[in-house]
Amino acid sequence: MKWLPVFLDVRRGSVLLVGGGELARAKLRILSAAQAEVRWHATDGDYDLAGVDPEAATRTTFDMRDPATIDLGGVVAVLCAGAGEVGLAVAARARAAGVPVNVMDDLAHSTFIFPAIVDRGDVVVAIGTGGASPVVARRLRERIEALLPSRIGDLAAFIGRWRPSINARIAQPSLRRRFWERVVDGSIGAEVLAGRGDAAEAGLRAIADPSAFVGGTQGAAEGHVTLVGAGPGDPDLLTVKGLRALQDADVVFHDELVSPEILDRIRRDAARVPVGRRIGKPGIGQEAVNRLLIEAARAGQRAVRLKGGDGYVFGRGGEEVNALRDAGVSYSVVPGITAALGAAAEFEVPLTYRHEARRVTFLTAHKAADAADVDWSALTDLEMTVVVYMGMTAAPAVRAGLLAAGRSPLTPVGVFARVTRPNSRAAVGVLDDLPELATQVDGGPAILVIGDVVAHSAPWRASALAHQHPNLLMAAE
Ligand code: SAH
Repeated sequence: MKWLPVFLDVRRGSVLLVGGGELARAKLRILSAAQAEVRWHATDGDYDLAGVDPEAATRTTFDMRDPATIDLGGVVAVLCAGAGEVGLAVAARARAAGVPVNVMDDLAHSTFIFPAIVDRGDVVVAIGTGGASPVVARRLRERIEALLPSRIGDLAAFIGRWRPSINARIAQPSLRRRFWERVVDGSIGAEVLAGRGDAAEAGLRAIADPSAFVGGTQGAAEGHVTLVGAGPGDPDLLTVKGLRALQDADVVFHDELVSPEILDRIRRDAARVPVGRRIGKPGIGQEAVNRLLIEAARAGQRAVRLKGGDGYVFGRGGEEVNALRDAGVSYSVVPGITAALGAAAEFEVPLTYRHEARRVTFLTAHKAADAADVDWSALTDLEMTVVVYMGMTAAPAVRAGLLAAGRSPLTPVGVFARVTRPNSRAAVGVLDDLPELATQVDGGPAILVIGDVVAHSAPWRASALAHQHPNLLMAAE
């Protein structure tokens, strides 16, 4: 570590900004967020405040003196933004006077550098790379932005307001720390993060005896189960909320279908329990999964139930949530990108299309026996795109059902396997060839998509089909 991270109170004096143009305005915006009084010296007379918060503008005064004569008294920091020789001269004087100075993109003349900042009010995260790579710092910032609940600053401010009065009632430092941990981890903290500040205030006000609160069960970390949809495979398709739940979890119960890259995003210290079944391999059973979730929550754990795609699309999420509700366990549900939407985006299959495909049906045909239960006659609508989950082994039955219901053997179809993963595969063709296409993708998981919209897809456009069946493409256009 070559640079010591510190937080500077710029309101104790003024900040001298040297230089003009967009670089200087960018610094003004940061200074404005920190409520600094700025004295701005621009050699070229460029004091354009375009894009700067009007409040910051009112705290900005223009210093017209010769820079050699600028008085550094009361200056807490000097920033030089693209100010050339003049900037370097002011920077040298600042260094000699012991005033912190930053010359943009010039480590040799700077005594401090600007970090990438995540600003959540009272909570600020600063990321530095010692000036080596602002791009790396920015990427890290994006990740941290995604992880921090948006109201974390409110939580810090809430505690800041209450600390004097509570601390006056708890003499022992270790007890104080436990008290605040309990507030942050328990229901009061959750209320603040959910934007229910009033309920949080009421909760804290209701604590008559802080020591008893620490020892007792009131407000203790209560268990919670979050049902998280992991999406089809690409970890970047996790929602921000889903990622946060994974980073916050004590234990994660996951399906086999969830990709290793996503499991890598789980908090390192969290326990991981695979509970899913795989084709040909039984899992522990739905009842047992429900029981594990309930037990974890009752033990005060933050449990995540992580499922491929979306938990409410052929994911048995409904049953798990019912079991949690019956058991009186607190839970929440975070959606995921279901396989059909992953395939649509990756292979450019518009599931609906103006005037051509007005409806979409998701159905499952796990075994030929399931396929026999499907009411195929309901799927003859030419303006309906049909997506079949778990349909690989039943592909012959799907074909037979749709043909018997009167769909054309020339209807475009696609088999999309391992979508959004590095080894994804697609095979496209016509309904008549569906069973054959299903053998061409080297295994699952895969979905079948049946409907004219497949003729818009990238693999169709890239294949000879576009020429063999120009009428289909035209019909689709
Ligand atoms: N809840 C999941 C579906 C679970 S059922 C979701 O919303 O996507 C399992 C079936 O989902 C598989 O048989 C397959 O048809 C489909 N599936 C899941 N992940 C897939 C992927 N990455 N690519 C293609 N199909 C997938």
